[in-house]
Amino acid sequence: MTDKSLPFTRDQLEAIASRVPTPFHIYDAAAMVRNARAFYDAFSWVPGGFVNFFAVKALPNPHVLELLRREGLGGDCSSLAELRLCSAVGMKGADICFTSNDTPAAEYRAAADLGALINLDDISHIAFLEQSLGGKLPDVLCFRYNPGPLKEGNVIIGKPEEAKYGFTRDQLFEGYRIARDKGVKRFGLHAMVASNELNPDYFVETAQMLLELVVEISARVGIRFEFVNLGGGIGIPYRPGQTAVDLPYVGRRIREVYDRVVGGAGLAPVRIVMECGRMITGPYGYLVTRVLHKKAIYKNYVGLDASMANLMRPGMYGSYHHISVPGREGGARKVYDVTGSLCENNDKFAIDREIPDPAIGDLMVIHDTGAHGHAMGFNYNGKLRSAEVLWQGGSDFRVIRRAETLADHFATLDYPGLGAGT
Ligand SMILES: *Cc1c(COP(=O)(O)O)cnc(C)c1O
Repeated sequence: MTDKSLPFTRDQLEAIASRVPTPFHIYDAAAMVRNARAFYDAFSWVPGGFVNFFAVKALPNPHVLELLRREGLGGDCSSLAELRLCSAVGMKGADICFTSNDTPAAEYRAAADLGALINLDDISHIAFLEQSLGGKLPDVLCFRYNPGPLKEGNVIIGKPEEAKYGFTRDQLFEGYRIARDKGVKRFGLHAMVASNELNPDYFVETAQMLLELVVEISARVGIRFEFVNLGGGIGIPYRPGQTAVDLPYVGRRIREVYDRVVGGAGLAPVRIVMECGRMITGPYGYLVTRVLHKKAIYKNYVGLDASMANLMRPGMYGSYHHISVPGREGGARKVYDVTGSLCENNDKFAIDREIPDPAIGDLMVIHDTGAHGHAMGFNYNGKLRSAEVLWQGGSDFRVIRRAETLADHFATLDYPGLGAGT
């Protein structure tokens, strides 16, 4: 099997690990910047300028958000905390997209106060939003479309009718009429119906579906669309041998669709935006952990100082994350279950995986943890959340979140001997 390469050497990692306790997540800043630029290049043709609202839930660290903001990315938020992170790094107004679903009034108010683009999940939320904002809708409003069981059938889009999100097709027409009559001036249309999709044609089909709908709604409701949000969902090659989505191809093909559909209908230019999270940061994060134990019973096990509390995806969904043992690339290989220390048998980073045979004390690196890695961490079994490190090449790094302490962990308890001062 082909391996996946690492941007850093074992010595570089050991030098960092001598200053930051393992386990920790480390993010490759330069690679994130290169990727963001390539993404924007692929859509440089978009009238009014392409923007990707980074789905903050993937990696909610302000240092990373700031780096992305400098590359022109906005933020896609679904909570108060995510809105605060975006505004703290200087994103404002239309740099922020607030995609609601089961949203409380206070969060709508916070989004509106920041001037964020509000993307509604349901037709009933038009009235809910109006009420939440004291009777006045924002000037700009976007609705999320759930294509449901499409007439044409689309093998790629899967089964949106099973998803909780979005408006039906009929509700969109009605919703835009209601918003228009209530004085909303500017409009967007959004869909997000896939996750971790590696087929580039999927995104071209989503663009075609949304742009055709924009043409139809514009004609029937008499409104003008300012933007179409194609959602996120661009996948990443977690497994060796998988291929990343060809962004120049996607950009080119969407441009053809755009010219044909929007140009053909004689519509005013519509901006294309996206809200990818995973592909922006996912491949550029690594969980660095140390081998604590090896055991041989009915199977062979390698036990790490990281657990599912640091990276939930393998235990939770059975997701594949590649594992490297820096410095042992050319050596003997052996089949192991790679485990953490939670009292849960699904706390395994890999099952029956052939990896370079590590020694106790070796560093192991788990790949592609830059999205939904630290972010999905938790404190079960009293596990403390790890540090996050931004790597700037060579020996240059910065701790962008320190490791949690026991005092942090107990801070919300009111009990003698725990909490502050522990
Ligand atoms: C999670 C999410 C995204 C980002 O999805 P990725 O698969 O990380 O690109 C975008 N939009 C919404 C509404 C989401 O919930």
